[in-house]
Amino acid sequence: MRALCISTMFRSLPYMEMKRNLIRSSIRLLSTEQRIPKVCIVGAGPAGFYAAQQLLKSSSDVRVDILEKLPVPFGLVRFGVAPDHPEVKNVINTFHKTATNSRVQFLGNVNIGTDVTVDQLQQFYHAVLLTYGAQQDRLLDIPGEHLNNVISGRRFVGWYNGVPSDKDLDINLDVEEAVVLGQGNVAMDIARILLTPIDKLKNTDITSFALERLSRSRVQRVSMVGRRGPLQAAFTTAELRELIKLDSCKTLWRVQDFAGVREIVLTLARPRKRLTELMLKSLDESANDSTHAKEFHPIFLRGPIEFHGANELESIRFTVNHLRGDNIQNQVAEATDEIEVISCGLALRSIGYKSVQIDDTIPFDAKKGRVKNVSGKVDNNLYSAGWAATGPVGVILSTMTNAFQVGNLICKELTSLSENKTGSDGLRKILDCKGIQIVSYKDWEKIDRVEQERGQQMKKPREKIVDVAEMLKIAAN
Ligand code: FAD
Ligand code: NAP
Repeated sequence: MRALCISTMFRSLPYMEMKRNLIRSSIRLLSTEQRIPKVCIVGAGPAGFYAAQQLLKSSSDVRVDILEKLPVPFGLVRFGVAPDHPEVKNVINTFHKTATNSRVQFLGNVNIGTDVTVDQLQQFYHAVLLTYGAQQDRLLDIPGEHLNNVISGRRFVGWYNGVPSDKDLDINLDVEEAVVLGQGNVAMDIARILLTPIDKLKNTDITSFALERLSRSRVQRVSMVGRRGPLQAAFTTAELRELIKLDSCKTLWRVQDFAGVREIVLTLARPRKRLTELMLKSLDESANDSTHAKEFHPIFLRGPIEFHGANELESIRFTVNHLRGDNIQNQVAEATDEIEVISCGLALRSIGYKSVQIDDTIPFDAKKGRVKNVSGKVDNNLYSAGWAATGPVGVILSTMTNAFQVGNLICKELTSLSENKTGSDGLRKILDCKGIQIVSYKDWEKIDRVEQERGQQMKKPREKIVDVAEMLKIAAN
């Protein structure tokens, strides 16, 4: 008996040693597992993808989940960038690389604030980054704004670009005169789409129903009206040049809008100088131009005060403004007693987008229309980047710079993690309970393929699917 016990003891010594080693290594494994940082990004637009790219670059073990309200990714690159600017959409190739990285998951069809709360995400992940953009538009708050054919520019863009909720936009193009209110690059896109010969749009990814309606459009004259002067115009040189050069369209400026401008153009800083020179050149040339069917009228120093009409829009009343202030760029528009009325049957309001508070717990500045943050930090493990954080200004490049900075900040603050987090496991449990169909990146690729196949038959790069139920059906097959 004793001999047996001793021999068992001898045999079990290495066994116990092995067991101890096993326990030690599983503790090591567990602590490594604990140290894996899990980050969740809300919104699959440029800010979301660029922040993810930066996180992957700065941390060798971070896991990133990108959550998106729609079943399809890329935000305004898909739904904002104009169909006749396909080269801008090449950034999607970079986003694709990020999305197919083994440390990244795309979870589409997940609406944060409705399907899951930000508070829950903060429990599941070490860091939560809000990059959900600016999904609403600013209102003028003037009488008549709800008349028929006073249209949100944001929704018009969504209509020709295939935003599911804008597919049934009630717009009447059976009118000759349209006014675009605001003079940013979105206003430029809108004016250009209305004035471009239909043949130039046919082979783009514009929705086929918008193409069909635009082909029957009677719009001949588009005025783009700004409350300030040519020196404060928000559009940029390349976009203006494109419009000026449009076939079958002449640009007509008002000479009086440029009073005093020629005298100071040489003193302006470079981008503004180039833009102003282009306007002056076009002003000089347009006097002799009488060959074109359609007209583009940029009009300055007019502030909209009322949309007029019985049911249908008939005209817009404007105050004639003058500028006050010393610094040219910051001069403000001040109304005089003079009024101008411009006849039109269609008005497109394009005075900027605004972000919304998608969840009550997000610190939000309602006045500025953006998530409250300091250089991307909101509070605790909550961050924000892109238009949700900065407000709706800037191009993809500036959004990228901002997202890289915030991605870096998150990495810096993720260095000492005290607890393990469930990541997408916790999130999936909640979504499963609610019966929400998660669309993976592979599922999106199925939708992408169908869109491209349909497009091929119509000689277009793609025919966008505009029905969420149809997207989900394709994703599930
Ligand atoms: P977004 O691109 O808006 O992405 C936000 C994402 O968050 C969206 O996918 C949205 O569906 C998602 N989301 C929203 N709410 C939720 C929620 N509750 N839960 C989950 N997800 C949510 N820049 C250029 O450089 N060139 C151009 O030609 C150009 N054209 C433009 C045209 C238009 C009409 C507009 C409006 C902008 C254009 N820009 C262009 C600017 C560019 O699109 C922006 O700089 C950029 O898209 C901002 O990126 P973002 O990720 O912050 O927002
Ligand atoms: P934006 O550039 O801010 O322009 C908004 C315009 O609306 C300005 O002319 C502004 O005039 C006017 N406005 C604001 N409030 C008004 C009011 N109450 N009454 C009358 N006019 C008012 O905005 P955006 O056009 O929506 O563009 C957003 C961003 O996307 C911009 O940075 C833009 O460059 C970018 N974008 C880029 C491209 C491109 O690169 N091709 C295309 C589209 C958009 P004030 O200046 O007087 O305020």
